[in-house]
Amino acid sequence: MSGIIIGAGIGGLSTAIALKMRNIDVKIFEAANKLSPVGAGILVPPNAMIILDRYGLANKVYAAGIALDSLDVLDAKGKKISGSPACFSKNGAEYQTVAIHRGVLQSVFLDALPSDFVATGKKCTQVNTFPGGSEAVFEDGLSISGKFLVGADGLRSKVRESLFPGITLRYSGQTCWRGIANITLSSNRMKQLTEVWGAGIRFGFAPINHSQIYWYATRAEAAGGMDRKTSLKEKLLNLYREFPGPVSEIISQTDTSSIIRDDINDLSPLGSWFRQSAVLIGDAAHAATPNLGQGGAQAIEDSWVLAEKIAHCSSVQDAFEQFQATRFSKVRRIVNVSRKIGRVTNITNKKLCKIRNSVVRCTPDFLARKQSRLVYDVPY
Ligand SMILES: Cc1cc2nc3c(=O)[nH]c(=O)nc-3n(C[C@H](O)[C@H](O)[C@H](O)COP(=O)(O)OP(=O)(O)OC[C@H]3O[C@@H](n4cnc5c(N)ncnc54)[C@H](O)[C@@H]3O)c2cc1C
Repeated sequence: MSGIIIGAGIGGLSTAIALKMRNIDVKIFEAANKLSPVGAGILVPPNAMIILDRYGLANKVYAAGIALDSLDVLDAKGKKISGSPACFSKNGAEYQTVAIHRGVLQSVFLDALPSDFVATGKKCTQVNTFPGGSEAVFEDGLSISGKFLVGADGLRSKVRESLFPGITLRYSGQTCWRGIANITLSSNRMKQLTEVWGAGIRFGFAPINHSQIYWYATRAEAAGGMDRKTSLKEKLLNLYREFPGPVSEIISQTDTSSIIRDDINDLSPLGSWFRQSAVLIGDAAHAATPNLGQGGAQAIEDSWVLAEKIAHCSSVQDAFEQFQATRFSKVRRIVNVSRKIGRVTNITNKKLCKIRNSVVRCTPDFLARKQSRLVYDVPY
């Protein structure tokens, strides 16, 4: 086998698509027993859509989700703090952010691959590198060798643990609930992501189709908190009770069993993303907090650059060096900016929140546009 990918998440699947386009032989090994459409929603920003267009998938993603025009941030009373475009023009084409169910996005990726491309129930426990290749060892005793190995196994990557032991995650001081509500938004909200900022709490929502919306809610608190399923909805309704409509309605119209909770962590930038013939991509290499909605998009950008380098470089080592050199600075900026935004939305003091909101309101448009350009442009 030429290449091994560990993990069939956003990064693993998009890398498989990118390598297959270049006729490079590769197979994915995924820990889950079944690739079922789980998870809540996700925002696929313009930079990811530019790459998905190159894979022939952009129109499928537009058709399966809702294309957004803008991101509006409101204060707890519903007054606008800021508005920014959710689209970006590249080479004469306009790319919009798409809000979509994660399971639906996964299906679009899987449909682009042959059905036997992903081996499920294969939890990687160890990776060994040797001159000319890498070996993945799995929980069931199987071991597979390939010319190169891509660790796309997410935030708590086993591949990273094998290559660079001792790296720990950074807790952001923020926990996050996500869900899907069965409601239709008013027409003026159908093309936008709306975020409401309060004191140490935040609530965001966007439509993912004409009868469902994806929402997320964050709160500044210590890691390790737990919820009782029976009282979770009441807890969330109480936490976000002062927020403007339709926040309470969204929480009320969500099936409690589908609400996912995660403590938000990221990784401080690693010195290297590869060792010999094994490389990390996506969250395994550079997990960011989700405050810019860019983690999945960065995994998709990785897939393009990595496949280009593997196809065109004379050795795997060269390809990995060039991959990291091409991607490192953009990724580092996104990790840092995301973390800063997290800190700003974590402010709990009400007076400081007022100052924060005024400062954001006064931020000149050109600065917000510059920030969007740095994130949305794909310079490769
Ligand atoms: C609350 C929240 C909201 C977010 N919102 C957005 C957003 O709107 N837009 C955006 O772009 N990003 C968003 N992100 C970030 C995004 O989810 C991640 O950056 C993205 O999923 C990373 O993709 P990945 O392929 O690296 O990892 P993952 O998507 O986590 O995939 C890893 C895969 O590897 C598998 N795996 C794990 N361990 C093993 C093992 N040992 N052996 C084999 N397989 C294994 C897993 O089962 C999984 O399928 C958000 C994140 C969070 C927490």
